[in-house]
Amino acid sequence: MEVFENPAPGDGAEEKIKQLRGKALALGATDAAVVPGQSIVVDESLAEKCSNPKCINYGLSKSCPPNVGGPEEMRKMLEKFSRALFFKIEVPSEVLFSGQGREVFQLLHETAAGIEQAAVKMGFSGARAYAGNSCKKLFCRDYAECNVLAGDGKCRNPQRARPSMSGFGINVAGLCEAAGWNMKGTEYKNGSETIKMSSVCGLVLIC
Ligand code: SF4
Repeated sequence: MEVFENPAPGDGAEEKIKQLRGKALALGATDAAVVPGQSIVVDESLAEKCSNPKCINYGLSKSCPPNVGGPEEMRKMLEKFSRALFFKIEVPSEVLFSGQGREVFQLLHETAAGIEQAAVKMGFSGARAYAGNSCKKLFCRDYAECNVLAGDGKCRNPQRARPSMSGFGINVAGLCEAAGWNMKGTEYKNGSETIKMSSVCGLVLIC
């Protein structure tokens, strides 16, 4: 098993994780919570939702099933991590389900990737970020194929795109519960108007 040289408690790890949370908020997250590794639950039935019924993005990128290791790989990965930073980006539901939804999911990937990069710079060398939705649809929709699968093997967007949590069967609802967030969405009043809000979530394994 690969061994990561993460900062040990006493090396300022707690302060660094606090800084990572600040980084998440600065990048665009509405909120971010440090969650223990045990709160990351992996479920085969959630990963199967990608294939049954088959998602329109199934198999189109290196970051989606069947081209990822799925729940089995994630369980092995989680043995190496005792905690993670879970974050959400909250937007009006009508924005998420409109033509702007793509930009929201791009921001989700970029935020996840940015936290991961910051974590690596801080010494969490094995940090791994996960987002949601297909990077093919979000970043490579103008190309016929994913460059990793059908080109020279290099991702066109290594600084931006990250794998989707769903392909690994990660229970996002359980993570929201661990973070103390309401998954059903929130509402707020803007004058006489009630605005419904929805969230998209990302996860960065940090140690
Ligand atoms: S090349 Fe495009 S589709 Fe393939 S993994 Fe990278 S971002 Fe995703």
